[in-house]
Amino acid sequence: MNVSPAAPPAVPTHCPYCALQCGMGLRQRPGGEALEVVERPGFPVNRGALCGKGRTAPDLLAPGTRLTRPLVRRPGRGLRPAGWDEALDRIAHVLSGSRDAHGADAVAVFGGGCLTNEKAYALGKFARVVLGTSQIDYNGRFCMSSAAAAHQRAFGLDRGLPFPLDDIPHTGCLILVGSNLAETMPPALRYLTQLRANGGKLIVVDPRRTRTAEQADLHLAPRPGTDLALALGLLHLVVAEGRLDEEFIAARTSGWPEARASVMAHWPELVERITGVPLPALREAVALFCDAPASMVLTARGPEQHSKGTDTVGAWVNLCLATGRAGRPFSGYGCLTGQGNGQGGREHGQKADQLPGYRKLDDPAARAHVAAVWSVDPDALPGPGRSAYELLDALGGDVKSLLLMGSNPVVSAPHASRITERIGALDFLAVADVVLSETARLADVVLPVTQWAEETGTTTNLEGRVILRRQAADPPPGVRSDLEVLHGLAVRLGHGDGFPTDPQQVFGELARASAGGPADYSGISYRRIAEEDGVFWPCPDAPAPDSEDGASDARAAAAPHPGTPRLFLDRFATDDGRARFVPVAHRPAAEEPDADFPVLLTTGRVLAQYQSGAQTRRVTELNAAAPGPFVQVHPLPADRLGVSEGDAVAVVSRRGRAVAPARIGTDIRPDTVFMPFHWPGEGRANTVTNPALDPVSRMPEFKVCAVRLEPLDGR
Ligand code: SF4
Repeated sequence: MNVSPAAPPAVPTHCPYCALQCGMGLRQRPGGEALEVVERPGFPVNRGALCGKGRTAPDLLAPGTRLTRPLVRRPGRGLRPAGWDEALDRIAHVLSGSRDAHGADAVAVFGGGCLTNEKAYALGKFARVVLGTSQIDYNGRFCMSSAAAAHQRAFGLDRGLPFPLDDIPHTGCLILVGSNLAETMPPALRYLTQLRANGGKLIVVDPRRTRTAEQADLHLAPRPGTDLALALGLLHLVVAEGRLDEEFIAARTSGWPEARASVMAHWPELVERITGVPLPALREAVALFCDAPASMVLTARGPEQHSKGTDTVGAWVNLCLATGRAGRPFSGYGCLTGQGNGQGGREHGQKADQLPGYRKLDDPAARAHVAAVWSVDPDALPGPGRSAYELLDALGGDVKSLLLMGSNPVVSAPHASRITERIGALDFLAVADVVLSETARLADVVLPVTQWAEETGTTTNLEGRVILRRQAADPPPGVRSDLEVLHGLAVRLGHGDGFPTDPQQVFGELARASAGGPADYSGISYRRIAEEDGVFWPCPDAPAPDSEDGASDARAAAAPHPGTPRLFLDRFATDDGRARFVPVAHRPAAEEPDADFPVLLTTGRVLAQYQSGAQTRRVTELNAAAPGPFVQVHPLPADRLGVSEGDAVAVVSRRGRAVAPARIGTDIRPDTVFMPFHWPGEGRANTVTNPALDPVSRMPEFKVCAVRLEPLDGR
């Protein structure tokens, strides 16, 4: 009788891609060395569901897909394999040379929202302590920085979602602004399905009729660049129809009179004209939102990636505050962060203006606290540096050398042809990555580093839930972790014994550095994360707060702090505990259509690809499902130009051109075309996009620019 061997136990871990950070199990395939994904139904966020990206993630581990040896460029020639000592020696030698010749700020560091909390923390410390440079930022600046800035301004604290995803089915009306969840985070669709099954209403705001918009009770399709006016128009109607929550405004907010004045200047007919959304639809949205006993607004990149992204999010926050839909159960404003560790990545010090614990770099008390953990003089820590695009744009100017980890700006940065040119002007580029990305191909030294299943570390998902990715496989020979890279460089750059390389030890230091800060991790440990399916920050190293009736409960006092799934229920994180209205006004996009560039371009994502595509383009199944870029065009402009389905079209802006086949349909406004941005080469959408920056968040305007379409006959 044949007895099949028992399946080995699966290691509980998380998907390497988006900010949902779905739980999954990984185990060895029977009889083979490759890993396979198994369901992890107990993890509450996704209950076992995964999208195709998560399901195929083990393909990223395959030999031949990933880098396994350091590469060093021969002068004037290509990259050749090298040993680790040679590669690290060369990086340390050039970085110290740049620093000695041109000053500490001639060396820059660029990180990524894919790095674990431990790596993000170590990278920020490395930049400020070892290199002494202020020039550090990361690609998360391109992701959620406008929402983060608006959060800080209104609530005094930025956590993407101030409540767990589990609250969504219990709200009465959800306005989803510029999020195509059905393609970016398919397992999260279950929250929308449950919401509607419970009788709740879904309003989707998107210039395209996306797969998510198809599920909505009401789809509003504003002209790209007008979400701010749309929110102001809705709030105007709230005031006009007597739907304000005066009691909430008086008790829990400040600044309403000033905000009200700005709202009343945006009368609905004007908003209808600006946005193209008919007045009856605006009225219907207000009725759905205000008639429900609880309501939410969730934004994503659609309204955020604009040169007015912070004010746009602020307008949606104002709508929530004026209607009493914040700081209450099943109500509020939240941001759906995109990158895997977009949330944690912005909390631990790889952002130009921040220190660990989400502390401000220009706050003397914050500098003193973190400097004590790092055993350095606070006065020796550099000040805030440039934001991501400004930093990339300075390459080859006063920035001579760059160390880049976990990012592929050649594909993902706005005006990518300009950024590629700036990278080419550098004296020296070192890249640590898993694959030979388009940016790594330009490097002088490439370091092959471990990835998700080959290492242990924490990330923080879009809810603020700190989770643990566990190692499930040995890394291939020749590959080291980013923590080991930073250690090796720190030693070579004269930093004594270097940096810790054990992730758990780094997490302990990170938790100490965060203690007392806005994002306090000091009560979180690997053990607690494992036992509790994640812990929501803030979680101070302190006893549980008093019991709900206010009486100090001895048992509760003995228990550790449980973490904070729901923020702001009693007070907001501002000095006076009140949420702040911020007056905002509509303004046009940085680039409006004209005779030469008469069409609006908006960019985004597709189901089977992720970010710059550096990983997903290497997965056969995903590549087959989404092999290349396309230009989504409405039939009216397509007819005018004589463009048929599949014809090659050039999308031309003031910055360059991207070429892709046309995909014609009525799911997009006639005045707008759409391109996904996951590909390099002639179909690179970011060749065309506008790097105009938001004055507060320094977010570039990925989501709207003026273009013209040129049919390419014979292609
Ligand atoms: Fe991974 Fe995001 Fe897909 Fe979940 S939704 S499996 S986290 S890519």
